[in-house]
Amino acid sequence: MKAVALLSGGLDSTLAIGVILEQGLEVETVNFFTPFCQCNRKKSGCGYEAKRAADRFGVKLKIFNLSIEYMEMIKNPKYGYGRNLNPCIDCRILMHKKAKEYMVEIGASFVITGEVLGQRPMSQYRRALKIIEKESGLEGLVLRPLSANLLPPTVPEEMGIVDREKLLNISGRSRKPQMALARDYKIGNYPCPAGGCLLTDPGFARRMKDLMTHSEITLNDIELLKVGRHFRLSSSAKIVAGRNKEENERMIKLSKPGDLCFEPQEVKGPIGIGRGDFDQITITLASQIMARYSDGNAEVGIAYQRLPDGEKSLLRAKSMKDSELRNFRI
Ligand code: SF4
Repeated sequence: MKAVALLSGGLDSTLAIGVILEQGLEVETVNFFTPFCQCNRKKSGCGYEAKRAADRFGVKLKIFNLSIEYMEMIKNPKYGYGRNLNPCIDCRILMHKKAKEYMVEIGASFVITGEVLGQRPMSQYRRALKIIEKESGLEGLVLRPLSANLLPPTVPEEMGIVDREKLLNISGRSRKPQMALARDYKIGNYPCPAGGCLLTDPGFARRMKDLMTHSEITLNDIELLKVGRHFRLSSSAKIVAGRNKEENERMIKLSKPGDLCFEPQEVKGPIGIGRGDFDQITITLASQIMARYSDGNAEVGIAYQRLPDGEKSLLRAKSMKDSELRNFRI
């Protein structure tokens, strides 16, 4: 009998697999990539960790890119947002739906997850677990080995495929039981449970909300939200100022035809990418912001041009005062 495991690579999902493998069942794992996942940005992220965890057990891993589905869902999640812009219940439904598709494809009989009852405020309380199962068409087929003894028996338990006696009754936010189990399984060096979802970050969530309020969202816009300082100049224009050389380079890579590129002349300073409809007022505001972050004194020459090859113009801009800057910062 085979199970599909949702594997983030964190400790809980890794342990859940260990518990099921110990019962002699076969497991294949799935991991998901979204535009808000930081796993493509740092080596220690979830794609990397999921692979590491799958390799540890010698089980197969399939990674799904949910970016397109996610972009639609985030605009209006049926079950709302968490503390920031994290639509955790809808996000879990999406992942469970994919897991179900894969389960059918490979002829597996049920799904396992590392969810722990009561551990996360939005998606891991009893009602949320029920909703996720129902909406993904997996009623009775989602086994959570770490909390199973606190939850109604699932189909594989009722059928005797999985021995309920050997499942666990962990609940709540304390990580101690999992750490003890990790020692038993000789699992060390596991990633911190904070996760890598940008939607739980208040600053990123603010920028994302601003984007959703003012324009259609594209993957490119979301990538641009991950770099620089962001300022809203009007309902249809914003400017992003780099914070260092690396960000300047990234911003240039992400720029699109029609964007405005701002650059200080004669003094050191960041690149600015202006996106949207600019008029003389917003160009002046953008230049004042660029002057604020440049090395010059009160007044700085700022060159700007429409990308990719518009004519270059020059504007002498007074550095914007911090008190005014605050009104534009996203
Ligand atoms: S924190 Fe992010 S990745 Fe995790 S369930 Fe919530 S929305 Fe999904």
